[in-house]
Amino acid sequence: MKVLNQSINPPAALGVLGGGQLGRMFAQSAQAMGYAVWVLDPDPNSPAGQLANRHICAPYNDAEALKLLADNCAAVTTEFENVPADVLRQLGQVVPVAPSGDAVAIAQDRIVEKEFLQKGGVAVAPYAVIRTTDELHVAQSRAELFPAILKTARLGYDGKGQVSVKTADELAQAWQGLNAVPCVLEKRLPLQFEVSALLARGWDGEVAHYALAQNVHREGILHTSTVPAPSASNELTATAQQAAQKIAESMDYVGVLCVEFFILQDGSLVANEMAPRPHNSGHYTQNATLTSQFEQQVRTMTGLPLGATHQHSPTVMLNILGDVWFDENDQQRNPDWAGVLRQVDSFVHLYGKAEPRKARKMGHVNFVGKRMEKVVERCEEAMKTLGLSGGVND
Ligand code: ADP
Ligand code: MG
Repeated sequence: MKVLNQSINPPAALGVLGGGQLGRMFAQSAQAMGYAVWVLDPDPNSPAGQLANRHICAPYNDAEALKLLADNCAAVTTEFENVPADVLRQLGQVVPVAPSGDAVAIAQDRIVEKEFLQKGGVAVAPYAVIRTTDELHVAQSRAELFPAILKTARLGYDGKGQVSVKTADELAQAWQGLNAVPCVLEKRLPLQFEVSALLARGWDGEVAHYALAQNVHREGILHTSTVPAPSASNELTATAQQAAQKIAESMDYVGVLCVEFFILQDGSLVANEMAPRPHNSGHYTQNATLTSQFEQQVRTMTGLPLGATHQHSPTVMLNILGDVWFDENDQQRNPDWAGVLRQVDSFVHLYGKAEPRKARKMGHVNFVGKRMEKVVERCEEAMKTLGLSGGVND
């Protein structure tokens, strides 16, 4: 594997696999530092492709496209975990790749991921692997796993590829409904709250932790992240951060890593999943820390010193889904961004997606301030302006 033995200086080109919003925000940070950005994504109008110095519009396993990327980029990263890990491994033979194909291979398969976490001594939800009819029957007989959630081992995101199952019969149906692809059946745990630990790790092993984020989901999609996590004690924060660091170190990870945790009713901590890239719950870093998670991604892959991760202001990040482009009669409308920005110290980030669809991530708004109470209040006012029901925590 190609390792970096000296830092990469601008105006070198950096490559990114994937052209979604995470790639776009990576590109913005890289370009701000003077790098050129090459994006590989099959979508002709992807959020990152739109502002790349060069957009290679091709499938992720297109040999010519990968050669072009490797020949022209000083280092390569990825913005999502569903690129074929072997593509990253191949690229890693000729150009420094961070995170590595091996790390991405773990994070892109829930079966491998759970085994890896457990081996590292990190607790996970009780689960069963279902790849065959025999394994289905074994899972059906494990009464302690129900009620449960059936999750596809691969390619799930934002609650997609997940079915809630109450009984053994429902499980059989649900698995058929998912075309009998490899899955994990996870016991549905009584959650007190959810947090995520975000860190950056450099080629030299230096680690920088961000504050712990507390995450609220709506229908399987992140709704808000509140940082620092209001429900987490210092001890819990340290435990989560240490677990995340241990995970990173055992993969010899280079890049930005996020580990999602469940906090159960009894206060214990269970790892849910990890993302080998910047994470939605880390978007707050753009406005509440000196170094955003995207700049950190640039610094890690180029071998530059990591930036300060200290959080200067309490924050709430509100995800903006396509739903706010539709009124109660399903008529399309333009969200009132001016109304949102009337809340002081609020920052709108939109991803340049042409078509708003319900449940599609279109952007986010960061609210910062001196006192968390005020920040929450302003976020909830903005939610009203956008026609969103409920509050930050529900
Ligand atoms: P995704 O890849 O879509 O983020 P997750 O596995 O993280 O999928 O699940 C999304 C959300 O669903 C979690 O953040 C949590 O709110 C809920 N969830 C998932 N698994 C469980 C579980 N075993 N028990 C309780 N809630 C769960
Ligand atoms: Mg998740």
